[in-house]
Amino acid sequence: MFSKSKKLGILGGGQLGKMVALAAGNWHFPIKFLDKTSEFPTGRFAAEFVEGNFKNYDDVYNFGKDCDVISIEIEHVNTDALLQLKKEGKTIHPDPEKLLIIKDKGLQKQFYQKHNLPTSPFQLFDNEELIIESVMDGKLKLPFVQKTRGEGYDGKGVAVIKTEADFSKILKGPSLVEELVDIEKELAVIVAKNEDGEIASYPTVEMEFNPIANLVEFLLCPAQITPEQEKVCVDLARSVIEKMDVCGLLAVELFLTKKGEIIINEVAPRPHNSGHHTIDSAFTSQFEQHIRAIMNLPLGSTANKIPSIMVNLLGADGYTGNAYYEGFEKCLAVKGVNLHLYGKEITKPFRKMGHATIVDTDLDAAREKAQFVKDNLVIRTV
Ligand code: ADP
Repeated sequence: MFSKSKKLGILGGGQLGKMVALAAGNWHFPIKFLDKTSEFPTGRFAAEFVEGNFKNYDDVYNFGKDCDVISIEIEHVNTDALLQLKKEGKTIHPDPEKLLIIKDKGLQKQFYQKHNLPTSPFQLFDNEELIIESVMDGKLKLPFVQKTRGEGYDGKGVAVIKTEADFSKILKGPSLVEELVDIEKELAVIVAKNEDGEIASYPTVEMEFNPIANLVEFLLCPAQITPEQEKVCVDLARSVIEKMDVCGLLAVELFLTKKGEIIINEVAPRPHNSGHHTIDSAFTSQFEQHIRAIMNLPLGSTANKIPSIMVNLLGADGYTGNAYYEGFEKCLAVKGVNLHLYGKEITKPFRKMGHATIVDTDLDAAREKAQFVKDNLVIRTV
């Protein structure tokens, strides 16, 4: 036990939970996770794993009762139970009131507007008919991007509406509609804050997307931007975490527009895909940093040891079933290639099954190796 050793409970037991569990293992303090089944990626690595539904009030409440600190690895958890646990004196990071804002993309956008944080112009709609009416009345201009206010992830709650022919793609239910941004680069900054108010931000990363799956393909660290742009990104991320006043990690996704502006897309108050490289290339991994921040421990160094490129390892198209990692040894043989498999039994097209972080003093050399991994590590069925 160490001075501030408290029992930590994490809602969610996917790959992010697994990597939190691995980081926690270093310090051997009491930690447990909640998710549907211990067969999920975290199960085998958690000191304690409770089977239950993090969206269910009773499951979350009962899970939290014997914890000192409660945190998440996914936003879509039962916040009513967290609010009750908070009332009973538990420390919850991110704070459930803030989580309610972040979980709803509409409230999130309103938060940026209220706090003068740059983001694309938007309007909120209660249903899809009102969006079409608004276009017909000339109040809403095409093209636009529509996002469901609730549970979108990995681009699944996002529709790009360019012409009236796309109206059939409009998503049902309450949503926000925002300007289609002319994106030069997609960037992200992971920043952390503890209860003492210490803030630490990682260098900006640059994301490149697979146009079909709309998932990150390569993630470059450091981002290929000017020092001035780097400063704007980092200052913005620090300003968001200060204004939101959340403890733990906050992944701040940004757009660098073709006009050269840097605006906020959205945030996630937890470890994030855009911080996976930190395990291999930073002095402190984002997973350890999250633990430090939520337990009010001193934050670790966020400096990069070496440039890196992260590649998501996705299930190959056309294969659903027990996963087989073809080319695993071949990729491991390449110096600087670090493979992280999440241990999901079943692969599906484009399912996130793992990631590779390629470290190299030369980013171009890392890029070549990353392409090699992408071409040679094929996740298919046995
Ligand atoms: P998710 O929460 O599902 O990841 P995002 O809001 O991050 O959803 O959107 C997914 C992707 O869609 C972004 O990474 C970006 O490529 C694209 N996108 C989102 N909003 C806009 C926008 N306003 N203009 C242009 N592209 C956008």
